[in-house]
Amino acid sequence: MRGGAKEVHEETREEDRETINEDEEDALVVTMTNSSLQDFADDEYTTPTDPCRCFCWCNYRKIGQSYVVREEGPIILVGPHWIGVLVTLALIVVSTILFIDQQCSQLNGWYTLASLACASITIYFLFQTTCTDPGIVPRGTIQTDPAIIAHCSYCDICDVHQQRGTEHCDDCGVCIENYDHHCPWMGKCIGKKNMKWFQLFNMAWVLYLVFVIAITMQNA
Ligand SMILES: [Zn+2]
Ligand SMILES: [Zn+2]
Repeated sequence: MRGGAKEVHEETREEDRETINEDEEDALVVTMTNSSLQDFADDEYTTPTDPCRCFCWCNYRKIGQSYVVREEGPIILVGPHWIGVLVTLALIVVSTILFIDQQCSQLNGWYTLASLACASITIYFLFQTTCTDPGIVPRGTIQTDPAIIAHCSYCDICDVHQQRGTEHCDDCGVCIENYDHHCPWMGKCIGKKNMKWFQLFNMAWVLYLVFVIAITMQNA
């Protein structure tokens, strides 16, 4: 899969060479080297033939395979497997409705409020995880210090020097700092910047599950 992405990337670079003269190419490299995440996505990263473009929000700018929903302030990114987020959300909402209807309705109203609070906190952490930049390394992040380069590997898809912990995700099409894994349930990678939200999400749903099991056993 990575090999395929590499071929596509190399084809794109070939096309670039045909259209950009030497001076312009030098200027482009300098610009990319100094790019911030906001500058990361460019036309090269946009795929006009993306089948998801039938959804209006998928016309948003892309970074790798992730969609940039908001650019001002903290950037909001939705991962390529955003349908997985909807499945996760549906599981939480449906489970909560069934739990309140079948277990809490026969108890004091505080139990219903407690389960709604647990569900709300879990959903809040879910969206923090799924909307936060996982730690994407801007394309063209090249190190100049030979001492640092000696400890880096190089991603020829993103044109970046990967520091320790950074890995390329084929699903997201970008390099991620402190890459942990690509989570289909969260629709994106878990990395340096959204790891704390992912851990809080896991704690929230586990505590919620313990609460549900305890009440269900009490009612049995
Ligand atoms: Zn990469
Ligand atoms: Zn990923």
